[in-house]
Amino acid sequence: MRQKDKVLNWIDENEDKVITLLQDMLQIASVNPWFEDDTYPTKEKNIQAYLKNYLENMGFETQLWEPDAAKLAKYEGRAGYYAGRDFTDRPNLLGTIKGNGTGNSVLLTGHVDVVKAGEGWTKAPFGGEVEDGKIYGRGAADMKGGIAAMIMAVQAIQAADVKLDGDVFIGTVADEEAGGMGTLALADFLKENDLLADACILTEATSLNIAPISRGILWGRLIIEGRSGHIEMPQGDWRTGGAVDAIDKMHLYLDQFKRLNADWAVKKVHSLLPIPCQINIAQVNAGEYPTSFANHGEIIFNAQYLPHERDELRMGGKVKQEISDFVSQVAKLDPWLAEHPPVIEWLVDADCAETNKNHPFVRNMAASLREINEYPMLEGICAHTDMGWFVNVGMPTINFGPGEPRIAHQVDEYIPIDELIRATKALAMAILNWCGYERA
Ligand SMILES: [Zn+2]
Repeated sequence: MRQKDKVLNWIDENEDKVITLLQDMLQIASVNPWFEDDTYPTKEKNIQAYLKNYLENMGFETQLWEPDAAKLAKYEGRAGYYAGRDFTDRPNLLGTIKGNGTGNSVLLTGHVDVVKAGEGWTKAPFGGEVEDGKIYGRGAADMKGGIAAMIMAVQAIQAADVKLDGDVFIGTVADEEAGGMGTLALADFLKENDLLADACILTEATSLNIAPISRGILWGRLIIEGRSGHIEMPQGDWRTGGAVDAIDKMHLYLDQFKRLNADWAVKKVHSLLPIPCQINIAQVNAGEYPTSFANHGEIIFNAQYLPHERDELRMGGKVKQEISDFVSQVAKLDPWLAEHPPVIEWLVDADCAETNKNHPFVRNMAASLREINEYPMLEGICAHTDMGWFVNVGMPTINFGPGEPRIAHQVDEYIPIDELIRATKALAMAILNWCGYERA
């Protein structure tokens, strides 16, 4: 039998092992402490201890460490850096299996933290229940399914007694769901210790699409000043002391953002992304009580950006400037706003990255999918993923994993078992093809 067929057969015959590994991981409630979930205050250390043990039993050399924010201060102002972030009981884990040194190396990576379960589940959020071909639990799609698939892909190669030429690294990080500093810490660790791989797969849920790009995300708060005054009484001109309705001024911005979006819908497109970059309004807050014009209004928006729009820090500075300029231009249309220009507070800048779709590693993934009779779909992720730091330190990176991205963060989060198995097979083939192996 072909060595690759042995690997694939092992996966088919050991579906239960893949399922059990994922269930074990789902039953460890690794809620990111940013969510202050009192029911599950476990942080990330228990799942990392579980994975360390699992990888060591497979023959991986492991390193487990709590990142130190102070040592990462050189990244001040860069994506994913948060001064003073506390990593107590929140370790990163790196497992290494050496090949014979003649092949390409690969890093398989993902985050072990999850968002809080929230209300409304019909399944146990940390139960790992199986029903109708699906495994349920917080993190099933985002992204413990992807981590189970990467580990089982390596286990299948070992079980089929295939020796890899290149090194395989498995890196699992804390703290993705609240900023991405765990990934920054892993990328820094790899760089400082000369452990950079020739390529990297971040197994975030992509429905088995190959996603060589993710978008940058800006959150901003546009603050619009008005002047309160009795809403039932005549007010007269604001220049003579009359009230100014902040809500009325917000209308202007809501309309103008639509115009900007129409412009962006033509300009800010990418051939691998299904939708253009937009400024989406996420929250509108204004007004104090029913008898007064609003003294103050806030529009909280989410704007996306593309890798070619990044500034010298590989972040969204240029797009922030573009939005600020637009806000200033709009203010000139209105005498009150011209004299009381709105202010933008920037809340989040989550970076983006791209690996050329013709890079050999992207082609390697596509060829590996074809080998298991899957049609390789190339489609970027419209949201942010942590691929940026892996690319920044020099590793071509793709996102590829099981599960539907939109299921992430929902109640009754699940992963179809069939997709988990297909991902395991695809990853096993990708590792074999990329790293090379000794022919029997
Ligand atoms: Zn995720």
